[in-house]
Amino acid sequence: MAVIWPVTNSTEKQFSLNRGASRKQFPIRNFIRCLVLIVLAGLPLRQASAADGFIWLNVSVKMIVDPATGQIPTTNSDALLNESFGLMNRWLANTWRGYRVRAADLDTSGNFKRIGSLNDTTGPGKWYAIDLKYNVTNRQQFVTQAQANKTQFGWNDYAINIYINNGDYSSEGEGFIISAYNLLLDDLVKGRSGAFGYQVAGNLLHEIGHFMGLGHTFPDDGFTDTAPDPNTAPGRNETAIRNSIALTNWSMNYSSLTTDRKILVDNTANNAMSYYQLFYDDPAQSKVLTDAERYGPTRFVITERQMDWWTDYANGNNSNVTTGVTKFVDAAAASGGNGTSAAPFNTLAAGVTAVTGGADIVLLRPGTYSATTLTKPLTIRVSRPGAAVIIRP
Ligand SMILES: [Zn+2]
Repeated sequence: MAVIWPVTNSTEKQFSLNRGASRKQFPIRNFIRCLVLIVLAGLPLRQASAADGFIWLNVSVKMIVDPATGQIPTTNSDALLNESFGLMNRWLANTWRGYRVRAADLDTSGNFKRIGSLNDTTGPGKWYAIDLKYNVTNRQQFVTQAQANKTQFGWNDYAINIYINNGDYSSEGEGFIISAYNLLLDDLVKGRSGAFGYQVAGNLLHEIGHFMGLGHTFPDDGFTDTAPDPNTAPGRNETAIRNSIALTNWSMNYSSLTTDRKILVDNTANNAMSYYQLFYDDPAQSKVLTDAERYGPTRFVITERQMDWWTDYANGNNSNVTTGVTKFVDAAAASGGNGTSAAPFNTLAAGVTAVTGGADIVLLRPGTYSATTLTKPLTIRVSRPGAAVIIRP
């Protein structure tokens, strides 16, 4: 008989409906719950470390020490960075795709790596106060030196490399991310003045989005589930931002738009790859977001199409920083697909055959699929816009 094998101990629900629907309506889950017991009797279980239902992105953060002091210029940075990883994963959970970030290369105390040293003016310390955000030549020289001196620079071939220096905020390019101590200066939650953990997390996940192939929403990212973005509305006023995007695209205010167009506007106004900051508190409007709103599905959005693009990068150019692959399956697709977002397989069996290990994900788009026999651990997920149903053939 045909059986389904959802291997995961994830705390996140594996299957989702469109955002407004109740998970209880999802038809696959009880079916799987019945069948999993049948399979458990016949297959050896993998070690828990082999697969946890997630695809992890390794992220290696390096803080360049001030050659004048031998120290980094900020305090509390390890705690703030560590907090930001948990917060980035709260946003990633809303995408339902199983991607998570994890900190690589922590020292034995759990702190992030320091590179350079007192009086170092030729190694990492040379770059402590040099602009690596705007100056492409500097970036190229830096990455060349880092890759030629991997131990000294903490360069990790199997991680997203993030360097922090005393420059101006952050950017991504030339295969690494540069961030800055001014992002880590303070944390009001911890009684200081300046950045919150969510600001650090939002900044880093935006740059990781670039690393995963995503461009800005402005002027037009080309995705069908965002709207062209004028990026002109100042501040964090949601009404002004919505109207700015609506007027640019349809010459009317947000309130007059159809529901579908409102979704496009909100996907843009709240997008992780926009410059709007609607996930921020805004003292100017006496606005303080609850955690449920800030980390919920309506703020810091990465859309389905953006995640498709991200996933193709994760499977391809960036596979060195990941722990698994995702194969796309779409019942409505033409035959002969290769499992990419643009050319998905059209049967569950083909997706199952194409993945190799327990860390891999078969991603079903909405549709009806014939069950198949699973011969290896894997995770089956369903993308957000609708239900996927698995039936006995
Ligand atoms: Zn950017």
